[in-house]
Order: sequence, then C-alpha cells, then structure tokens
Amino acid sequence: MIKLRPILLAHGGAGLRRLSPAQAACLAAALETGYDVLNRGGPALDAVETTIRALEASGLFNAGLGSRRQLDGVARMDASLMDGRDLRAGAVASVEDILHPIAAARLVMMHTDHVLLAGVHATRLAKHFGLDRRPKTPGRRRLTKARPSGAMLRLHRAMVRGAMRGRERHGRETVGAVALDRTGTVAAGASTGGIDVMLPGRIGDTPLVGCGIYADNRGGAVSMTGWGESIIRVAAAKGIVDGLAGGDSPAAAARALFKSLVKRISGTAGALVLAPDGRFAIVHTTPRMAAGFWNGTGRPTVRDRFP
Ligand code: ASP
Repeated sequence: MIKLRPILLAHGGAGLRRLSPAQAACLAAALETGYDVLNRGGPALDAVETTIRALEASGLFNAGLGSRRQLDGVARMDASLMDGRDLRAGAVASVEDILHPIAAARLVMMHTDHVLLAGVHATRLAKHFGLDRRPKTPGRRRLTKARPSGAMLRLHRAMVRGAMRGRERHGRETVGAVALDRTGTVAAGASTGGIDVMLPGRIGDTPLVGCGIYADNRGGAVSMTGWGESIIRVAAAKGIVDGLAGGDSPAAAARALFKSLVKRISGTAGALVLAPDGRFAIVHTTPRMAAGFWNGTGRPTVRDRFP
C-alpha cells in the first residue's frame, strides 16, 4: 500500500472580513483535531467530518451553531461530503435544529441510497439517528411573515441591493475541508447557514455535489465558499476537479474556473483545492478567505489572505 504524507485543509469562508483571533485559533484547533484522524491512519472522509464538526460546534462561523437565519427568522442549514475513492456522497439541505449538519450528510451517505435529502425529512432522519440538537440561540427579530409574499420579495430585493452597494453580496464564514489520507484517498466537505439575505427555502451551492464540493481520486478534492448562486451556475467544484484531472496544477485549475466565474457572471468565490499527490492551493476572488492547512509538521498555518 502507498504511504503518503497526509494533509488537511480547512476554510472559514471567503469575503471581506478579517479573521478574528478566536476564529484563527478555532481553525488551527480544528485542523489539529482533524489531522489526528489522518495521523492514526484514518480515512480522509473521517478527517473532513471531524474538522467540520469542530467548526460547526464553535459558534464562530456561519455553520452549525453560528448559522445565519433566513428572512423569516429560521436558520436552515446545508452540508455535504464526498469520498474520492468510490465517489460516494451525502448531503442535506434546509435542515433545522441540528448542531452538526455535516454528520446528517454522512448519515444520508451511510444509511440511505440517496445523495441529498432536504427539509423536514432530512431533519427527521438526523433526529432519528440521535444527532445532537442545535441549542436555541437568541433569535434575530423575525423580519417578515413566514409565508412568501410581495412584501417579502420586495424586502429581499432591497436588502440584496443594499448588501451589494454597501459591502459584499454574499455571506461569510461558511466552513469546509479537504483531506488526503495515507492511502492516497481524498475527500471534501462543507457546511453552511447560507448567505446574508435569503428568502425562506433558499438553498445554496454547499449541498450540491459538483457545485459546492467534489472529490475524485483521479483528480482531487475541492471545497467551495462564496456567493452560492454564482458557484452553482458554473458547477465550480467539478470544473476545478476536471482541470486537475486534465493535468492543471491546483492553483491553475481554480484560476481557470474563477476567470469565467468572474468575467461571465460577476461571481465571487474561494476554493480549497487538493490533488491526490498532496499539492494544494487556496484561491479566492474575494479580498479575504479564512483558511488554513497542516501536514502534521510544526503548527497549522492559518491566514485570511492567500496570494
Ligand atoms: N456558499 C455559501 C452559500 O451560498 C455561502 C458561503 O460560502 O459563504 O450558501
């Protein structure tokens, strides 16, 4: 069996915001916890799930405990993960009340014949398997009535326009990870509470295999963050993995995809990109991307800008 040096990358979202010291420490600790799995000879998929669980539980990112709320005041979360050895994948969309949506995605992968479950039924599956509940957090004021209406759509458009003028059009602090284990298998995962301004029921790129994540030992592993609507329209994660499979370096594969994302649809995104030989890149079109990596030597590197 090939013995590779494992490597693990994690992100805490792409956007404008600087990484706080608490977030940087949390990313480093999550990398250490996840790397421990790889170091003991564990699979890349377990390392990805462990890393994302640590970030979801922290409340410091827009995932799990720290998830944003949609315009009706409800936090609906998306997550997915994928194994590059056999292309198995699991995902959940619009789940509520679950502390670890990434674990719910893993349940879909392990215990069903499906790839993606959504809404109340995905939430019920997670509860059936006894996943931890998300503790109630102090609620943001409910902005509109829960039912879609002309008023809600007008509010949504006004908020989107404001967000685009004022700062950035997408949320920050989604989390994700990619890993390479000792056997040469790669895996990818991501978990989010969505973007800044969302109509109830909005689902982004994160639970969509091929858009928010992809992993294939013949190409590599990718975990995306950024404006999900733009990431979906270019099927970003699969596009980058196809570039890797075609011989591009991780940085070149991401840049090629981002060129059309920005030029054709004014999208914004960041990506963790990992090849099965351990080469990797962290690339973003946004001013900042909170992310880090570790291969078990020294201390994990964590920054909010990557050249
Ligand atoms: N991509 C996520 C979404 O659109 C948000 C993010 O990465 O910040 O739901």
